[in-house]
Amino acid sequence: MHRSFGCAAGVQALAERFPGKPVYPGLNTQFLGILEEQATWTEKCIGCGECMLAEFGGVCPVTRCAKRMLNGPCGGSTSEHCEVAADKPCAWQLIFRRLQSIGQLDRLEKIHPPKDWSKACKHGHRGEV
Ligand code: SF4
Ligand code: SF4
Repeated sequence: MHRSFGCAAGVQALAERFPGKPVYPGLNTQFLGILEEQATWTEKCIGCGECMLAEFGGVCPVTRCAKRMLNGPCGGSTSEHCEVAADKPCAWQLIFRRLQSIGQLDRLEKIHPPKDWSKACKHGHRGEV
């Protein structure tokens, strides 16, 4: 028996590579994330089906802004924390700093229309933007 503690894609990859061997998921996949430190994962992508990372300097507001704002920040933003999730940084502060560091602050002048969620995978469709 094989048990995978990778995401669901990892489980399926193992199942394809080990014909005749049962492979069981060791966890319930809920997002695509990055391992920040031992046992600490942070959600970075919800699979919206139309990646906009280039517009935001590589920081995803769809996933990391609590209000999923495409035209942020909201009125409660501070340089320290998100007003909704005080244990997290404001995604729009991160976007601003990142665009500033790569000389692309002009991207913030663009107004983004509401997201077309028909392109999202079912898992990614968790809220309107
Ligand atoms: S949620 Fe969409 S915009 Fe954000 S990283 Fe994933 S694919 Fe890109
Ligand atoms: S404080 Fe920042 S991350 Fe939090 S909801 Fe407002 S714009 Fe989004």
